[in-house]
Amino acid sequence: MTQQPDWLEQGRAHLWRPYCQMKTAKPALPVVRTHGTRLVLADGRELVDGLASWWTACHGYNHPHIAAAVRKQLETMPHVMFGGLSHEPANRLATRLAKLLPGDLDHVFLAESGSVSVEIAMKMALQFHINRGVKGKTRFLAFRGGYHGDTLATMTVCDPDEGMHSLFAGVMTEQVIGDLPRDVAAEAALVALIEAHAHELAAIVVEPLVQGAGGMLFHAPDILRALRRVADDHGLLLILDEIFTGFGRTGTMFAMEQAGIVPDIVTLSKALTGGTLPLSAAIARRHVFEAFWSDDAGAALMHGPTYMAHALACAAANASLDLFETGQWRADVARVSAGLEAGLGPCRAMPGVVDVRVLGAIGVVELERVDDLEALRGAFLEHGVWVRPLGRVVYLTPAFTITDEDLATLTGAVRAVVSVRG
Ligand SMILES: *Cc1c(COP(=O)(O)O)cnc(C)c1O
Repeated sequence: MTQQPDWLEQGRAHLWRPYCQMKTAKPALPVVRTHGTRLVLADGRELVDGLASWWTACHGYNHPHIAAAVRKQLETMPHVMFGGLSHEPANRLATRLAKLLPGDLDHVFLAESGSVSVEIAMKMALQFHINRGVKGKTRFLAFRGGYHGDTLATMTVCDPDEGMHSLFAGVMTEQVIGDLPRDVAAEAALVALIEAHAHELAAIVVEPLVQGAGGMLFHAPDILRALRRVADDHGLLLILDEIFTGFGRTGTMFAMEQAGIVPDIVTLSKALTGGTLPLSAAIARRHVFEAFWSDDAGAALMHGPTYMAHALACAAANASLDLFETGQWRADVARVSAGLEAGLGPCRAMPGVVDVRVLGAIGVVELERVDDLEALRGAFLEHGVWVRPLGRVVYLTPAFTITDEDLATLTGAVRAVVSVRG
């Protein structure tokens, strides 16, 4: 038994940890350093990171270009309030995001976390209809398997089980929950559901191409085109939550590009700062912005988080976009995608494996069942990798810059762990 650092034991009595039954959970691993695609633990062990810290660190940890930009900004101006004041990092970032996004997604509201950007998108959609004098559009259509955050309003548009809709019944707004269609009949059923509720719906909220935290479930671009069509037919807004898929993860800069559609509002976060600082954005198209453009002060969007447009975070995001501008990420994601397919493909033949799927830099091995999730998670540590299955879904979302060797270590560990279970 190696000596653990004293701060770990002391802090454990006080830190309330995420998604955690504090009584029964194993202690968290103490990380003291990161570099590239590695986590260094207090006892000196080094783990190959398969997750890039919830998909944020797309360029790898401690990227020197991002670090230099943050350091420079820290010395000049770490943060100022955004009410009545403005600064170069936020202005440059908004200009660059508007240019990068398709269509007239031109109006950028910067916040600090993904959940908050989804809340802002929902508020924009509700008030869009109110400002235009359309009454009664107070609900959202969302999907089983979806994940949009942990705050109370975003929970209402998450998967009903994961979002704890029954536990919190009576507290949260009941939204209309549909299934993402896998065939033509299911698509007709979804359209019928939307038609039945169109008069009370403000918007459709969906993660394009991949439902991430809900189980890494993929759907075809056709479905997004169908949703765009139904939304237009019935005067609903379409909100795409690209917090997971944005910035290259699915092989294109944004997942929406693969469907060739433009949502009315898109949310971004996660890889926006390359995994260094918290920042998010809700970005609206011109017609949404114009519904708030008025001589009436009451028609304004009433939102303004204390740390919105944080200057350090905006500097990090601008530096991350510099790295994307080199275009190298396209080749990297294609290389990682091929490595995931080659490395995880053999799992298809293993007993207890329901599905293996790869899209961009996302690799998934779905198991039939997992009886002991803690033991499964522990098995990956034995192989020197950081992989943390979501229920029965084992997934890899590594940094785009991961070496072929580290990627092979990750996929080899998945094969080894999955095969002994069979
Ligand atoms: C992570 C995530 C969120 C929530 O972002 P936070 O920064 O954790 O609040 C929302 N939507 C999607 C698709 C996500 O992956």
